[in-house]
Amino acid sequence: MTIPEMRTSRWIEVRESPIHGSGVFAARRIPKGTRVIEYLGDRITHKEADDRYEDHDPSDNHTFLFIVDRRTVIDAGVNGNAARFINHSCDGNCTSVIEQRRVFIESTRVIEKGEELGYDYEIGREKDDPENVDEIFACRCGSPKCRGTMLYPAEKPAKKKKAKKKVAKKKTAKRPVKKPTKKKTRRAKGGRGR
Ligand SMILES: [Zn+2]
Repeated sequence: MTIPEMRTSRWIEVRESPIHGSGVFAARRIPKGTRVIEYLGDRITHKEADDRYEDHDPSDNHTFLFIVDRRTVIDAGVNGNAARFINHSCDGNCTSVIEQRRVFIESTRVIEKGEELGYDYEIGREKDDPENVDEIFACRCGSPKCRGTMLYPAEKPAKKKKAKKKVAKKKTAKRPVKKPTKKKTRRAKGGRGR
């Protein structure tokens, strides 16, 4: 049976976030295990996603790509809905669930009215990541469990420390930053918390 599309949601509202840009907040108390909204957008292949954002500045993390599986990426930058504004959190109150090759955001605990929604993007690391990838995807979620980066897993502690330092202290000038050929895409692990 096909799951009905959840383009909008009575549970949430979009407004400015203290974490980053626009965020998604509970418009009412959301019970644990609620399917809050579907992550919608253009369904394209990984190759199409790479081509689409080929000229995208690699130091800008602002794309809305979500990996469904090896074949499909959802680009919420095109025909996306409010789900694309849900910020990353290292210890969020939501999780992404993949069902019938579609992505849904579900609450993992009770979310009180006015609380910001967040889930772990778990953006995968790639061999050709630029040196400063953890700066580009720096996390400011404020959670005590914050790993400092939206990437998963967090880098080795020694390297992580270095990445946290101010840009001025970077030693990258001696070494040219590798130019990434692949786009960073949000990687969600389906089926978590179920
Ligand atoms: Zn964090």
